[in-house]
Amino acid sequence: MATAPADAAAQRNVPEAGRVRVVYEAPRKAAYREIHDAMRERRVLERVGAIVGLVRLPTRLTYRFKECAGELNAWYAPENRSVTVCYELLDSIVQAAPRTRSRAGITRHDAIRGPLFQILLHESSHALFDLLRVPILGREEDAADQVASLILLHLSPADARMVVNGGANFFATTAREEPVDKGAFADVHGLSWQRFYNLTCMAYGSDRRRYGYVAAEGYLPKERAEGCGEEYDQVAFAFRKLIGPHLRARPADGRRLRRAFRP
Ligand SMILES: [Zn+2]
Repeated sequence: MATAPADAAAQRNVPEAGRVRVVYEAPRKAAYREIHDAMRERRVLERVGAIVGLVRLPTRLTYRFKECAGELNAWYAPENRSVTVCYELLDSIVQAAPRTRSRAGITRHDAIRGPLFQILLHESSHALFDLLRVPILGREEDAADQVASLILLHLSPADARMVVNGGANFFATTAREEPVDKGAFADVHGLSWQRFYNLTCMAYGSDRRRYGYVAAEGYLPKERAEGCGEEYDQVAFAFRKLIGPHLRARPADGRRLRRAFRP
């Protein structure tokens, strides 16, 4: 097991950043080593930790990449307050990514990094709900997607667009192989096409000009698009009310993110 120390810059910018611990377990399977190295070199977990570190966490939260005996999964475990993402899941994202560019124009880079950040922010949302005792009306899986979308939409404009495009591409790709049977309807998660439309709706609702293309190019039906501004405002209001009060008093970075967190 290889444990990377908390990012020095993040520690400087976010007091008590030690409360977020990141672990890049070395995979046994040779095919995952490249993924492990790339994730570690790009300090992916440190970046997500720095975002979540803008919130005053009552206990330490661990982020871990690990090999899961063939399981394509990611989860938050409240018993040991840790987010785990399996190399198997990361590998499936890499395998499903287009060689250069998808027919919809999504680049390979966005098709990999988009879902990676969407997944990490989704699991981080479960962690915030648990650690901050956030009350949830409705399905927790939907709420985790909405909070993840809200946070990602406050990244830099280029990063936000990357996660929206790449995340939506991932949901669309997953949807094509998803059996729409009773089991899918019974699942705690929404169907992949629902998650696709929820994400594109939040993006469009956050900024109709910047994300006008999702409606113009037919990735969001007109009937849904009309109410996306209100859908976005509803999530932003709940977020400011329930998570905003836990924001650090004077976080030293992430002005755009601070706006998302501010009550
Ligand atoms: Zn979830």
